[in-house]
Amino acid sequence: MDLALTEEQTAVRGLARDFVAREVTPHAADWDRAESVDRGIVARLGALGFLGLTVPEEYGGSGGDHLSYVLVTEELGRGDSSVRGILSVSLGLVAKSIAAWGSEEQKREWLPRLCSGEALGCFGLTEPGTGSDAAGLTTRAVPDGDDYLITGSKMFITNGTWADVVLLFARTGEAPGHRGISAFLVPADAPGLERRPVHGKLGLRGQATAELVLDAVRVPATAMVAPAGKGFSVAMSALAKGRMSVAAGCVGIAQACLDAAVAYAGEREQFGKTIAHHQLVQELISDIAVDVAAARLLTWQVADLIDRGEPFATESSVAKLFAGEAAVRCANNALQVFGGYGYIDEYPVGKLLRDARVMTLYEGTSQIHKLLIGRALTGVSAF
Ligand SMILES: Cc1cc2nc3c(=O)[nH]c(=O)nc-3n(C[C@H](O)[C@H](O)[C@H](O)COP(=O)(O)OP(=O)(O)OC[C@H]3O[C@@H](n4cnc5c(N)ncnc54)[C@H](O)[C@@H]3O)c2cc1C
Repeated sequence: MDLALTEEQTAVRGLARDFVAREVTPHAADWDRAESVDRGIVARLGALGFLGLTVPEEYGGSGGDHLSYVLVTEELGRGDSSVRGILSVSLGLVAKSIAAWGSEEQKREWLPRLCSGEALGCFGLTEPGTGSDAAGLTTRAVPDGDDYLITGSKMFITNGTWADVVLLFARTGEAPGHRGISAFLVPADAPGLERRPVHGKLGLRGQATAELVLDAVRVPATAMVAPAGKGFSVAMSALAKGRMSVAAGCVGIAQACLDAAVAYAGEREQFGKTIAHHQLVQELISDIAVDVAAARLLTWQVADLIDRGEPFATESSVAKLFAGEAAVRCANNALQVFGGYGYIDEYPVGKLLRDARVMTLYEGTSQIHKLLIGRALTGVSAF
């Protein structure tokens, strides 16, 4: 693996870095307090081509490789995880699933709008009663003439109240577990679909998270993505790449922690010298730096495997598990460097810790990733 970035990758990272410095970082604390990112950010992400990264140009995407996608995701995560998540879900989980699994008609209908930011997508897998055990979902789609009627509910859906389309997973057959699940593209304004905002989150407060309640929501049979019974494969393939995107967001958080801790340690004086002179503060900073470097390399490795067409699912779990735990450690260490000032929201590290905390929970908890890695290595499933 060549770790040197190409000119194009360097340029796309520079574009993302400038954009984040100008349009994200200065507003992140205010958006967090207001519990809403400025919605105009979606169109700006689209205009820069970020919402179409890795989507073929013929469908309105900007092409690009997965390492470019990782670099942009890292920069967004460095500025504000709430913004990063908007892209990871709408592009990473929804648009890319449509590109990979959708019919020609579905691609033409949704991809240009999702890539431009005119439309936003959300990913409806988790339910109130099924999180880690996603194959146990109970939302049901029942055939009705040429249509399906979908009834059930989805929990913790990122972009939920903002989205124009839901990539929704529902049971269509009697087959138990994953075999009975199909995927649908459901317009978010479909009659019978209610979206209830989830408030009071520890972190990612700027993000629009929602519960979706579906009461006999009618969609045509052509809204099904991939053949009936293949929905779980759609979900798992989306999440395998999605975990790389979460890992990249975690690298961004960890890098932001390093930047903040180094700057503060160079300014704050105690015992007649800056705290950077105290070796135990240097230990905190070097621990963060090691986590940043390791998480970044693991994440880049996944992008490299995808771009070379190699298997990557286990490496994606490894990267997500490590980077998620590392982001929490880094934010905790950075907060320690800030002392009492880290505990108030005038400084960025408290938000970094709150935002980091979900990274070990969603897109597979750390425990679930340990089981996935263990299964891949031993051939024995603990599920
Ligand atoms: C802010 C936020 C945004 C989210 N966005 C989305 C989204 O856009 N779309 C979506 O579909 N979902 C989304 N989720 C849902 C997320 O993916 C789930 O919360 C996650 O999968 C965990 O499910 P759960 O919360 O039901 O926890 P549970 O599955 O109930 O787990 C609880 C605990 O039990 C442990 N556990 C469970 N099973 C096992 C096992 N077999 N062995 C060992 N330990 C186990 C878990 O690791 C965890 O510690 C989001 C969640 C949050 C918090």
